[in-house]
Amino acid sequence: MNDVREEEIVIVGGGLAGASAACILADAGRPNLLIERDPEPRHKVCGEFLSIEAQTYLADLGLDLDRLGASRISRIRLAHGRSTTEADLPFLARGLSRRILDEALLRQATSRGARILRGVSVREIATNGTGISLAMGSSAPILAETLFLASGKHDVRGAKRVPAGTMNDLIGFKGHYRLAHAQQVALEGCVEVMLFSGGYAGLQLVEGGIANLCLVVTRQGFDEVGKSWDRLLDRIADDCSHLGTRLGGAQPLFERPLSIFQIPYGYLHAPDAGEPPGLFRLGDQASVIPSFTGDGMSIALHSGRLAATTFLAQGQAGANFHRQLRADVQRSLRFSSALNAAVRYRVGRHAVFHLCRAWPAAMRHLTSLTRVQETSVTAALAAR
Ligand SMILES: Cc1cc2nc3c(=O)[nH]c(=O)nc-3n(C[C@H](O)[C@H](O)[C@H](O)COP(=O)(O)OP(=O)(O)OC[C@H]3O[C@@H](n4cnc5c(N)ncnc54)[C@H](O)[C@@H]3O)c2cc1C
Repeated sequence: MNDVREEEIVIVGGGLAGASAACILADAGRPNLLIERDPEPRHKVCGEFLSIEAQTYLADLGLDLDRLGASRISRIRLAHGRSTTEADLPFLARGLSRRILDEALLRQATSRGARILRGVSVREIATNGTGISLAMGSSAPILAETLFLASGKHDVRGAKRVPAGTMNDLIGFKGHYRLAHAQQVALEGCVEVMLFSGGYAGLQLVEGGIANLCLVVTRQGFDEVGKSWDRLLDRIADDCSHLGTRLGGAQPLFERPLSIFQIPYGYLHAPDAGEPPGLFRLGDQASVIPSFTGDGMSIALHSGRLAATTFLAQGQAGANFHRQLRADVQRSLRFSSALNAAVRYRVGRHAVFHLCRAWPAAMRHLTSLTRVQETSVTAALAAR
C-alpha cells in the first residue's frame, strides 16, 4: 500500500477551468497541485470559437492570442438547405485550437508557481471527515483539504455529476482540414453554422489557416448512416449544400475525427448538502451549455476564476460558489438549450433560419443572449 500524500489544494483536470483556477490561486501565493491525465498536448472536441468574454479572461491571465496565431472572426454565416444568410458578430471573435490554447494556459499556471502532475489519471474520489481522498492507479493516493474538480466531460468515480433531465443523445465530432485556396478565402473572417436534419455544424479557421469542422448529431442520425463519418458528411451535404461547397477537395488533417458521446447539454450543478464544502466543481463539471451558440470556454474560465476567488475570500465555501455560478450562467444556459431543442426539428430549423434571414440582427441578439453576461464577468474580474 502506497503512503498517503497530503495536499492543501488539488485541482483535477488541466483544461481551461482547472488551469485558470491554478493561475489565480498561485498568484495569491496558495500552493496548488494540478493533476492532468494527458501526458502531452492533444486535440479536444471543440468548435474553438473564442467569444469576447473568453478572450477577456485569457488576456487577464496573460495570454496573447495574436502571438499564439489565433484567427480573427467578425461575421457569422448561417446555412440551411441551399440558402445562407450572414451578419456581423457583436464582437471580434478569435479561433485557436485547444491543443495550443490549453497548453499555453498550463504554461502560465506553471510559471506562476502551480505544480503540474501530467500523465496521471484520478480514478476515484472519496470524502471523509478529514478531507477528500484521491486514488490514482499506481501513484500514492492524495488527501486534499480542498478539491477543484475540473475534469470536463469526464466524470470521476465517487463524484459523478447527476445530469438528470439533460438532452444527452448527441454525439460531438471534430476534424481539422486544409481547405482549397478559394474556400479558405471565402471562410476567412467568418464562423459558419450549418443546420441539418439531426444536428448542426460549425466551421471556422483557427491558427495557420486550418479549418475546424465541429458538429453534433443525434445518436439516431449517426446510426442511420451506419456510424460512418464519410457517410455522415455526405448526408449533411445532401441536406445543407454549403458543407459540400466548403469541404469539396479539402484535405483532412486527422486520420479520423475526434468524438465525444452523450454530452449532457443543459446540465447545471445544484449545490448539494451531501457534498463537502471543500469541493468546487468547475467548467463542464458545473455546467454544460449547448455548443450551437454556446460559450462553454468562457463558462469554464469564469468558473475557474469564481471558484478560486471565492475560496481565497471565504475558504471552503463550495455551496456559495455553486450558487453564484448558477445565477451567472442560468439565463444563457436556458436560451442555448431552447435554441438547441428548436433546431432539432425541421420546423424549428426553418423558423430560426428565416428569422435570421429576415432580421440579421437576430443573430447578433442570439449570440449575446447565449453568453455569460458582462456584469458577471466584470464582477468576477473585480474580485481578484
Ligand atoms: C461539440 C462541442 C463544440 C464546442 N464548441 C465550443 C466553442 O466553439 N466555443 C466554446 O466556448 N465552447 C465550446 N464547447 C464547450 C467547451 O469545449 C467546454 O465547455 C470546455 O472545454 C470546458 O472546459 P473544462 O476545462 O471544463 O474541460 P476540458 O477542456 O474538457 O478539460 C478537462 C481536462 O481534465 C482532464 N481530465 C479528465 N479526467 C481526468 C482525470 N480523471 N484525472 C486527471 N485529469 C482528467 C482532461 O484530460 C482535460 O484536459 C464545445 C463543446 C462541444 C462538446
